[in-house]
Amino acid sequence: MSNADIYHEMIVDYSRNPVNYGKIEDHDVTFHDSNPLCGDSIDIDLKIADNKVTDIKFHGKGCAICMACSSVLTEITKGKNLEEVRKIEKNDILSELGLEHLQAVRIKCALLSLKVLKSALYTYLADHLDDSQDIDKLKEDAASLY
Ligand SMILES: [Zn+2]
Repeated sequence: MSNADIYHEMIVDYSRNPVNYGKIEDHDVTFHDSNPLCGDSIDIDLKIADNKVTDIKFHGKGCAICMACSSVLTEITKGKNLEEVRKIEKNDILSELGLEHLQAVRIKCALLSLKVLKSALYTYLADHLDDSQDIDKLKEDAASLY
């Protein structure tokens, strides 16, 4: 099996059996965004304690790439501290699934969940920090993903 086949199988698998799929009713922060070009629509719920993401779940609907990348993102994020979460980059997600050279039209499918996560983090920090410079930087990060 070629690498491309393996990655394809991973994406199909994740989209059929998404990881960390569901809701956290007593979340500390939640965020929603959508990608109207494809119809992807994702919510992410976070539990945060001691500056760490103790739990993360996502729900919504999306194409296989969107669901697979959301699954990978939640796996990467869980247990990380907020500074580490801030530093998650698009290639951290894309490389897990061999999507580094994804066509521009599909990149929004792949990165929607990362955008939602960064926006959720921004929302949380805006409520819990008063360093507005930090928050502006985070906002820029989220806006410059694609
Ligand atoms: Zn999509």
